[in-house]
Amino acid sequence: MIPFPTDWQRALVLVPHPDDPEYGVAAAVAKWTAAGKSVVYALASRGEAGIEGMAPTEAGPAREIEQRESARIVGVDAIEFWDFPDSDIRNTPELRTSISEVITRVQPQVIVSIYGGPGWGPDSPNQSDHIEFAAAVLAAYDGLDDKPRWLFEYSPDVTHVEEVGDFIDDAVTSLAAHVKYLSVLDPDTPVVEQARAQVEMVTAAREDCDNQQVVTFELKRRAR
Ligand SMILES: [Zn+2]
Repeated sequence: MIPFPTDWQRALVLVPHPDDPEYGVAAAVAKWTAAGKSVVYALASRGEAGIEGMAPTEAGPAREIEQRESARIVGVDAIEFWDFPDSDIRNTPELRTSISEVITRVQPQVIVSIYGGPGWGPDSPNQSDHIEFAAAVLAAYDGLDDKPRWLFEYSPDVTHVEEVGDFIDDAVTSLAAHVKYLSVLDPDTPVVEQARAQVEMVTAAREDCDNQQVVTFELKRRAR
């Protein structure tokens, strides 16, 4: 496994929904910001369709607040939300324009996007929103004249790994900030327990990485 690059200063994390960064990437983000790098989050939606039994007009603002706190915990203050419809994210010209615009404005060396493949395993197919969004990111990137150096997806098709053993607690706290979301998702399990189980799963120690806990990435594009 190739270690994730270190010779960069600014990363842009692009995802369709609140909580997408927290199911995996946040441990790496905590490590990067602790090392003095800056990380910006941009989200296509506010996840307004994501809390069962809660009206979108209530859920959207609630999830935005939780996402801002999740980001703050791993050292991310720069976060923006676009108004694409949760559960109906499409690879449209409008979405690709928003993605190109934020890349051009933020000028990252590293882009981290959501996994756009078919699924994490036979029993866990990927969501349509994720597949459409990831395709839009690749198309927007390919259309740029001035391309950031690296574009990764957080992915099970691993090319690069970031060792995150020292940042598990930060990642757990960050995911646990999605209090309303998690407490509706599984009312019987305390939010922190849910968060710890998820983070331990997505950062499981790998034999091919000296049994270190890692976040896994797939390099999709490389420029310069
Ligand atoms: Zn998502």
